[in-house]
Amino acid sequence: MNNLMCPDCDAPMETGFLPEATDVDSTLTYWHRDEPEDATFLGMKVSRNAIKHDKEKMFAITAYRCTDCGLLKLYANPKVS
Ligand SMILES: [Zn+2]
Repeated sequence: MNNLMCPDCDAPMETGFLPEATDVDSTLTYWHRDEPEDATFLGMKVSRNAIKHDKEKMFAITAYRCTDCGLLKLYANPKVS
């Protein structure tokens, strides 16, 4: 349990996260330092949407949700791989 209160309506905020969910599984969502770059292999793009990522620059996101108005506050926590 956290002690965060909503800055808009002063109701308690509950702890959560933002899963990247598919039909098969789900993963955490991260904040990544720097600008996005296309992922490449041997100089060619891996796929239309793939981007490079560096786990040293990634921080898992914790999302707090107001139990009254639904406002979200996001925090990029220290590295979680
Ligand atoms: Zn609120």
